[in-house]
Amino acid sequence: MLEPDKLSLNIPDTTKPRVVIVGGGFGGINLAKKLNGERFQVVMFDRQNYHGFWPLLYQVATAGLEPDAIAEPLRKMFGSDEYQDFHFRLVKVTGVNPAIKTVSTIIGDLPYDYLVMATGTKSNYFGNEQIKKYSFPLKQIPHALNLRSQLLQAFEQANMTNDPEIRQSLLNIVIVGGGPTGVELAGALAEMRKHVLPDDYSGLDFSKMNIYLVEGMDRVLPPMSPEASAKTYKYLMELGVVVKLNTLVEAYDGETAVLKGGEQIKTNTLVWAAGVSGALIDGLPPEAVERGRVLVDEYNQVIGLPGVFALGDIALMKTEKYPKGHPMVAQPAIQQGQLLAKNLKRMLRNERLEPFEYNDKGSLAIIGRNRAVADLPKNIHLSGFLAWATWLFVHVMALVGFRNKLVVLSNWVYKFFTYESGTRLIIRPFVRKGDRVKQEFLNKYNSD
Ligand SMILES: Cc1cc2nc3c(=O)[nH]c(=O)nc-3n(C[C@H](O)[C@H](O)[C@H](O)COP(=O)(O)OP(=O)(O)OC[C@H]3O[C@@H](n4cnc5c(N)ncnc54)[C@H](O)[C@@H]3O)c2cc1C
Repeated sequence: MLEPDKLSLNIPDTTKPRVVIVGGGFGGINLAKKLNGERFQVVMFDRQNYHGFWPLLYQVATAGLEPDAIAEPLRKMFGSDEYQDFHFRLVKVTGVNPAIKTVSTIIGDLPYDYLVMATGTKSNYFGNEQIKKYSFPLKQIPHALNLRSQLLQAFEQANMTNDPEIRQSLLNIVIVGGGPTGVELAGALAEMRKHVLPDDYSGLDFSKMNIYLVEGMDRVLPPMSPEASAKTYKYLMELGVVVKLNTLVEAYDGETAVLKGGEQIKTNTLVWAAGVSGALIDGLPPEAVERGRVLVDEYNQVIGLPGVFALGDIALMKTEKYPKGHPMVAQPAIQQGQLLAKNLKRMLRNERLEPFEYNDKGSLAIIGRNRAVADLPKNIHLSGFLAWATWLFVHVMALVGFRNKLVVLSNWVYKFFTYESGTRLIIRPFVRKGDRVKQEFLNKYNSD
């Protein structure tokens, strides 16, 4: 057994300024790419060995795409000769000590000259431990694979049980959170219910499969325009999704979701897409953290901590236009990563720094085939086929890596003509803790 004390970070000593980037997400990779070629040593830490393209995560959960189509290994991205003095380590950063300028991992500490936290977010359950224990989050590839197994296993069991109550619980899916993730997941499941599942399970009556989308506010897609929300609501109705607005889920014990007001829904699957908070690293002074994000100035420098930066979802940069910080989407992270690279180079040359100004390129959400919404600059709102085609184009182009672009595009073209959705394989059976029904099923049918 290799104990952590037998490991070492093995980062070569250097006379150059060392930039330590925590997180190879949208912010981290754009910073590292643009820093290349200057007189820095760049060290990137991530707890996973790939960059994930989260906007397509829901397609992995619904068996539309395989996970390798939406991820790019960080070593492949930065492995070529083009990247000199770049060092990736697969390790979780556990703390930072700004007083002595070091970051800590379970296998050791590393001194930095510049530290950049680009750690994104984690699910926020607002303190409800029961929901945290029993619900399915959708933030990482393992979450999407768990949810995919859960859904396919639920259909298999529903097809075999003689108990109508258990069958209904297996066919009820509750998605909490009517933001882009919840809406896109609900739409994809509704299309699966119509085009894919009845052929796969001819003995099962899919008119009994209910997809509930529960949103606490008075409209779906609250971050988008009222026009986009109204259109999305209409599309969800057309697809037969049960949308419950102004409604909170108060409890879930793995079997029954209790909504505010007392309504109860028996469900084996509750997906939590209702909130996120920053994936904070221990060691920051309390005054540098606000509402779960790290307070930064217009140069992404953490307030009160020279040489320490935060960017992307984790960073809270308050401006006149964005008093509550920038939207937690990919573009601010990409743009902040690119600008910080320029500013670090300027610091090295003692030049004036450029403040960050967000260039909002708009937002998109897809609900189903020919059903999408887009809020574009200059108050342009698109919906229907045009928004759908824009969504497909933008997402293929934004994927990292030629192979991923090709795989995703060919999958979508195939799906367009056949209505088939990927490979519905339960590669890795998953049983959520406390799931009585699934555990019994696996014990009976899956024992060696
Ligand atoms: C399901 C889903 C759907 C989304 N859909 C859209 C969309 O349609 N459009 C859009 O613009 N945005 C979308 N987003 C939001 C978008 O993905 C984020 O805004 C963006 O990823 C933020 O980039 P980032 O660099 O701040 O963080 P991320 O891209 O999340 O990267 C953070 C990285 O940090 C690593 N990390 C975290 N903590 C540690 C640690 N302690 N030690 C080491 N590594 C660590 C993580 O492994 C990860 O690789 C979606 C997000 C999700 C989860």
